[in-house]
Amino acid sequence: MLVWPKYLQAKSLEWIEKSSLVSLVFPNECAFCQCAVEGGQRLCEACLQQLVSNRYCCQRCAMPLPSVLPNDQCSRCRDHHWHFSNILALGHYQGKLREAVILCKKLRVEYLRYALARELANRIRERFPDMQQREPLIVPVPYHWSRTLARTASTANSLAELLSQHSGWPVATRMVRRILRTGKQGMLSLVERQQNVRGAFQIVGSPSLSGRHLLIVDDVVTSGATANELAKQLRRSKPLEISVVALARATG
Ligand SMILES: [Zn+2]
Ligand SMILES: [Zn+2]
Repeated sequence: MLVWPKYLQAKSLEWIEKSSLVSLVFPNECAFCQCAVEGGQRLCEACLQQLVSNRYCCQRCAMPLPSVLPNDQCSRCRDHHWHFSNILALGHYQGKLREAVILCKKLRVEYLRYALARELANRIRERFPDMQQREPLIVPVPYHWSRTLARTASTANSLAELLSQHSGWPVATRMVRRILRTGKQGMLSLVERQQNVRGAFQIVGSPSLSGRHLLIVDDVVTSGATANELAKQLRRSKPLEISVVALARATG
């Protein structure tokens, strides 16, 4: 696995890709399996097929659906009150994509995050070809400050910055604060998770979000409770639409 020195931050990577140094600095190898790829590609075809899925799923919550059902007729979504319009993910949290997401949590795997953020930007543009006209704003799910201290970097923040580079859409990293430390939610039911994250976020100031398409970014959407709580807060500012964007959607 290729890792980048810490000083090669996301901005430098963008500059490198645009400059003539690209073939010197970016090896012509897949960001995931390190096999040789053609210049300009960041993932080989085999990894792309494993990491970016076209499996049939609900267009709202991104959970798998039997292909006999229309993708707007999901029983889970009938039972949930989502404050966002849809979840866009590269695939489900399993197999190679799960491995890639876990790798992305490491601090020095910028190249893999960069490659996956590019696929996310493509997926968003496929779903919303007119995104540029929607005044998109990328909003990473913030960590509580105590977690930030421990890890020194947030995968959501890093993905949001990289997504912004690939798309040109602005990112708001300080617009939302996480004011409650919610801890691990792994063993909790959806209802307990919703209670656990209630009041966890605070919007800083009064940002003008009216008419804008907000893209909430996280690495994985598990139950959707965290993104839903953030969307609930953001909806008060009357955006045009709120989508949740993640590398993977957990299906367990
Ligand atoms: Zn590969
Ligand atoms: Zn659904």
